[in-house]
Amino acid sequence: MKIYKIKKSNIDKVGLCASKDIKEGTKIIEYVGKIISKKESEKNNKFDNEKDIYLFNLNNKYDLDGDFIFNTARLINHSCDPNCEVNGKGLKLWVSAIKYIKKEEELSYDYGFSYDKDYKQFPCKCGKKSCVGYIVRSGSRWRIKT
Ligand SMILES: [Zn+2]
Repeated sequence: MKIYKIKKSNIDKVGLCASKDIKEGTKIIEYVGKIISKKESEKNNKFDNEKDIYLFNLNNKYDLDGDFIFNTARLINHSCDPNCEVNGKGLKLWVSAIKYIKKEEELSYDYGFSYDKDYKQFPCKCGKKSCVGYIVRSGSRWRIKT
């Protein structure tokens, strides 16, 4: 049985939530996609204008493009107070729990967007107490004046 399921989300249209209680450190779902070389991702203008929501750095040679329907993990929303993180091992990426997650709780991780002039294009609706209103990585949130 999978420990996650797709559900309607309060943050965005859909998201993933825990289908049972999940312990901290548990691998929940693999983040799958196509492995592409850095050269390809630099050349491909698909990654130019939008934030790299689905593009993950694997190592200094390769990225992983997760922008595919079969990548269920792409449905996970950003949160300012996330309960998951995405970690790589070799050429594999896993979404793992960074805290105890109760059944039915929505899964989230920090999308890690850097702070730049366009940050207002990416509002955050995570609803956490610590929400800064925009999707910006935790280390840069102090720049946003609320
Ligand atoms: Zn937020």
